Amino acid sequence: MFFPYSTWRKGQKKIAQEVCLAVINSKCLVMEAPCGLGKTLAVLVGLTPLVSEGFRVIWLARTHNESDKVIEEAKLLNLQSQDLLRGLSLRGKTSSCPLLHGCDEDTAYLACRTLRSELLCPFLDQENLDRCLQHIEENLPLISSQEVVEEAFKFKACPHEVMRKLAIKRSIVSMTYPYLFNPHIRKAYFNSLRIRPEHLVVVIDEAHNLLNILQELNSKKVSLKTLCRALEELSIRGYEKLASSLENLVSELDSMASTGDLDFGVELSFSSLEQLLGLSSSMSFTEYLEELELAVKEMLAIRAVKGLNLRCHAASLYNFLRHLLSLRENSIIWLHNEHHHASPCIEVRSVTAINALSFLSPFRSVICMSGTLAPLKKYVSLIGLQSVRERVKLMRYLRPKVGRAIIIIDNSLSTSLRERHKLLYVKINYKIKLIRENTHQGLGVFVASHRVLQGMVEAGLEEVVPGPLVIDQASEGISNPLERFKKYLSMNSYATFVSVIGGRFSEGVDISSKLMPIAVLVGVPMPEPTVFAEKAKSMYLKMGFEKPDELLYKEPAMRKVSQTIGRLIRSPQDKALVVLMDRRYGRGLVNYLPQWLNYRLIYTDNPLSIIREFSSATEFNVGGQH
Ligand code: SF4
Repeated sequence: MFFPYSTWRKGQKKIAQEVCLAVINSKCLVMEAPCGLGKTLAVLVGLTPLVSEGFRVIWLARTHNESDKVIEEAKLLNLQSQDLLRGLSLRGKTSSCPLLHGCDEDTAYLACRTLRSELLCPFLDQENLDRCLQHIEENLPLISSQEVVEEAFKFKACPHEVMRKLAIKRSIVSMTYPYLFNPHIRKAYFNSLRIRPEHLVVVIDEAHNLLNILQELNSKKVSLKTLCRALEELSIRGYEKLASSLENLVSELDSMASTGDLDFGVELSFSSLEQLLGLSSSMSFTEYLEELELAVKEMLAIRAVKGLNLRCHAASLYNFLRHLLSLRENSIIWLHNEHHHASPCIEVRSVTAINALSFLSPFRSVICMSGTLAPLKKYVSLIGLQSVRERVKLMRYLRPKVGRAIIIIDNSLSTSLRERHKLLYVKINYKIKLIRENTHQGLGVFVASHRVLQGMVEAGLEEVVPGPLVIDQASEGISNPLERFKKYLSMNSYATFVSVIGGRFSEGVDISSKLMPIAVLVGVPMPEPTVFAEKAKSMYLKMGFEKPDELLYKEPAMRKVSQTIGRLIRSPQDKALVVLMDRRYGRGLVNYLPQWLNYRLIYTDNPLSIIREFSSATEFNVGGQH
């Protein structure tokens, strides 16, 4: 086997062998192995000999950055294997096409189709496309989506078209989950790759997200604000019939939003939505949709001709209503506040993943991997992997344990709903201030939810915590907050980084304990009770899961916590101190931490003395392995 380094990390060789065997034997493999072990590289090593036998690989990642990283790792292998691997990563139109920035994916799809059919896109010159493709084929056997966008820009070619053509010939294609799991994208794009199913290996990276992803990809939501803007667009353009129905819907939803508890949510039905739209025998739902589609296409074409931005709220309404037509038994329609801001939206969302993966069964092999999948058998049932293969090979890395962590459980407070009030946030801020004053390195503060973070900010977090403070704002690019944090560290040797547990800095990014040796996790990222969760609970009970609360609340929360700790423990040598600031951790939740993690557990109301000791020590002992 080709391996780009002089030595393997413990466990990597086994992973490579198991992956290779799973493909040879046409099996599904579910694998849990430590964060930071080098799983991606190990899996690529296992796949490399198979690629030369004619197998092709679809690698599914959570984000574009993570999907690009797979190609970067494959480049290391190519140094050893004389360019044996040929691959690329893909990204969607909204983040690659110069004309579609700012659109949502569905609108981008519709807008692109309209531009193509009206011959309005300037990036489809065949000669430019051919020159761009030839250049990449001759010079770049492995190319990330970011590099494709840059090359396409140089040749004035459509980046999406370049990616699509390249993907037909490449053996490793890395992409985000929707390419394969969203049935519309799969039909429109994936099927054109001409891959023989029995030669295809699908790798699902960070697979602990799979249930959520399957739920999300079969979901669609539209905010009340978007509906109001769609109403404006339709009225201005004179689509009176469409506008008047929509006006009914908006005013009814508006009054429900002002009277109902939208944090918990209100369940709606398809027929109630039809009624709210004021549809009657004179116009059916399908007729309304057909008329709306024509109106949207007309509006998009007018904007394209005028050179205006192609963002269109009526298109978002159309996409939402169209999705209602594919409503399944395991879905819910509900009106609720979007999770981190009080903005009402209607959403249609899948509750379970029943049969969502069955389309994978013709493929040669499916490999699911993550640092946090246990209990593996339950995971397999929950995502319905038995619909792909009756028997699934399970692999769990247990020893030698990885990293050296001290985990302190601070029993003095909790962010549970009952205990949230201004004084709690003042207390949390004060504790963080003390920790900050007693450490002289990078400090991470990861907070249970955007609401808790908002409470802390309103209680004066920025004024109370001394020194440079970087709060992750979703509006910034992902590298910016981390770069600022690093810059402060290089200038002052200490700085505080604040983000949300389960947010974009809690998985898929390398932080490491060198940069952030101490992290405080404020609260438990337990999903809040909603009408959606209630429905899921009753469905899980029907499916035979005895403890649905574990599935819905404890396990997802502790996976997020483990992933967050995994940002600090990036290698077997990393050592970190983690304060779990919520007494609920001490009531059994801590038992859900991954078994590969080497840690010492300390319960206390006042973690300061341990933090001081840790902060000044060059060496420390985590004691026995747990
Ligand atoms: S054809 Fe390509 S460049 Fe043109 S709108 Fe579509 S994605 Fe953009």
